[in-house]
Amino acid sequence: MQPSIERIFLVPANTVLLGKITTRAIVRTDSGEELLKVLADHREKIVGVSYGGGVEDLPRRDDLKEITVGLVIKDKNNLIKNLHKLKGVHVLAKILPGEDFAGLAKFISTTEIPIDILDCIKDEYGQEVGELLEYYLHYTSLKAPFEPFHTILGTMLHSTKMTLFDMAMLNPDQFLAVDDEGNVAISLDALEKGEFLGALDDGPEVWEKSEPFLKWKEFAANLPQLSDECMECPFFFLCRGYSYYDSGKCNLWKKVFSVIHEAKSEIDQLNTEIEKQKKEKEESGKPGK
Ligand code: SF4
Repeated sequence: MQPSIERIFLVPANTVLLGKITTRAIVRTDSGEELLKVLADHREKIVGVSYGGGVEDLPRRDDLKEITVGLVIKDKNNLIKNLHKLKGVHVLAKILPGEDFAGLAKFISTTEIPIDILDCIKDEYGQEVGELLEYYLHYTSLKAPFEPFHTILGTMLHSTKMTLFDMAMLNPDQFLAVDDEGNVAISLDALEKGEFLGALDDGPEVWEKSEPFLKWKEFAANLPQLSDECMECPFFFLCRGYSYYDSGKCNLWKKVFSVIHEAKSEIDQLNTEIEKQKKEKEESGKPGK
């Protein structure tokens, strides 16, 4: 049984596991050598890389080509020392919660590398997240986008259908995570907890009948009944209960959405004003005016 065509698998850099995947994969590894090997064998199905190794060992631009590397920053000094090696590589710096993650995120953004702080948006980091949001929205010399703020603002501005579940790759219809033994789960967290849907060889018919998969589906279908708060929330279209699902708390997310929404309204107002001035200018340039 082959995995569903639509899905992307978050899979270790393992040639045997990648050989079983007929669709697309985001490869996880801390080893540049391993990554080079799987790129040589399976590059056509690799759409992304999550890399936690030293920057000095990351394959170069010619090997990675257009593939985006989610660089898990474990050692700031290593990054600074090897920054030149990232030239031309599509990189997104993934910041994990920890000591002074806000300072680290700001510092990395000065190198023009886009930042991802999704994992840090937890109620206990409200102050740091607020500081980064302010920085992203108002720092006039900003050199790189901050995710997920940037995508949320884009989604609000352009009314696209992106949700936090998509941004967090937490949707088993689209993404599944695989461990070294070939166990499949709906996310990396679920893999760690041993909440398996089955083995990679089992395929979607088994995975989609497993308890964790059905529980997920039930959550998505029943959210309206599960949470009145979500149903009344003006940001449900974007969140769809993600923070309720993630931690049961969402004070910080609500603040993040509100602040970005305010910025979106200001941008809308500015655009309307610009359009008005453009029209007035066109009108005044017409003959007889
Ligand atoms: S922000 Fe909170 S209330 Fe609003 S949709 Fe998300 S989880 Fe529900």
